[in-house]
Amino acid sequence: MNKEQIIIGQKRIAVDKFKTSQLYSTYPKISENCSCSDCAYFEKEVIYQDFPLFHLLHALGVDLSRQPNIVPDGICCPGEINDRIIYYGYYKVVGSMEDNQETIECYNNELGPYTSLTIQRANDQELIFEFYIEAENKEE
Ligand SMILES: [Zn+2]
Repeated sequence: MNKEQIIIGQKRIAVDKFKTSQLYSTYPKISENCSCSDCAYFEKEVIYQDFPLFHLLHALGVDLSRQPNIVPDGICCPGEINDRIIYYGYYKVVGSMEDNQETIECYNNELGPYTSLTIQRANDQELIFEFYIEAENKEE
């Protein structure tokens, strides 16, 4: 085990960046899981926008362009708000919560505007980072 502790939502989690990046190397691209234009836009544009959440996930070993092959897909776009595109989704991270936490909630004050995040325990090895994001729409 090669875990590193970070503080998020004022709580401690321990993450294994190496195992997380290994996990993502086995996942398909988002656009391979789903051929819709919302998923394509997310993969080619949204993940490169300047969100603290994406910088954090990238630093934890997540490949933001990949998702486990789940049905229908890991990224969901329910529409737009104030000219920004809403996305829901999640990314898995290999790690665990410290201090017997079950859930960690992070809102705007920590991750900046347009983002919220809930971290949950998937199992003994993995955490699930569930996000809501309002991304810039550059296609208009
Ligand atoms: Zn899709």
